[in-house]
Amino acid sequence: KVHVEKVNKSYGDNHVLRDISLDIAENEVVVMIGPSGSGKSTFLRMLNQLEMPDDGTIVVDGFNISDKSTDINKVRENIGMVFQSFNLFNNYSVLENIMLAPVETGKMNKAAAETKARQLLDTVGLSEKADVSVNSLSGGQKQRIAIARALAMEPDIMLFDEPTSALDPEMVGDVLEVMKNLAESGMTMIIVTHEMGFAKQVADRVVFFESGKIQESGAPKQVFDAPKNERLQEFLSKVM
Ligand code: ATP
Ligand code: MG
Repeated sequence: KVHVEKVNKSYGDNHVLRDISLDIAENEVVVMIGPSGSGKSTFLRMLNQLEMPDDGTIVVDGFNISDKSTDINKVRENIGMVFQSFNLFNNYSVLENIMLAPVETGKMNKAAAETKARQLLDTVGLSEKADVSVNSLSGGQKQRIAIARALAMEPDIMLFDEPTSALDPEMVGDVLEVMKNLAESGMTMIIVTHEMGFAKQVADRVVFFESGKIQESGAPKQVFDAPKNERLQEFLSKVM
């Protein structure tokens, strides 16, 4: 589903990703952990060409997106992304936010998009908020709407970059619950998070980034309970 081979990325003389290779299978849930500045966001952003690699190969859903001539908009329609900041359209209602992309891209007509949006609102537990303005929602509600909005395009892959980091602690659980249900439904997911409990419970594989490299990866049990890499051991001793 996602094939990354020997990818490098530098910003000036800051070599942010070093020879990264990673394959992600259909239905797999991969959680990426690691210290600040280790390249997690840069890696995630490369998967939908928000950043271009300097070299190496990235194939997503069969499209070689490290090739500039690939029509990225086609690929992006199949990749949902959820950020720390919710990036919702504040002047629109909740329902309009969710309907917008499928209607604008011609994927669905308005009626179909509305039906889909209402289903998704139900999925994220916010049916009663359909007609309110996004401004009136709490952070946790906004983030659940952001997830619903991404799902409205019926993506094959969902990318999450610290989706709960900006939330008040009491909001975090609801968002993680939505993500957990999505994982159980079989969605292919790549998630950057500091929620180690969630990673343990939901990830098929945990990948530890440090200094632009994948220093260790494996099943959560192995990564958390029997880390081999010294830097991972040190990282876990700080965050667990
Ligand atoms: P965090 O946990 O703080 O979000 P991260 O692992 O996501 O960190 P990245 O955001 O990928 O780290 O950043 C990796 C490095 O690349 C950092 O040194 C950062 O300063 C640098 N960097 C990221 N984006 C840019 C950019 N657009 N221009 C220049 N440098 C950048
Ligand atoms: Mg980041």
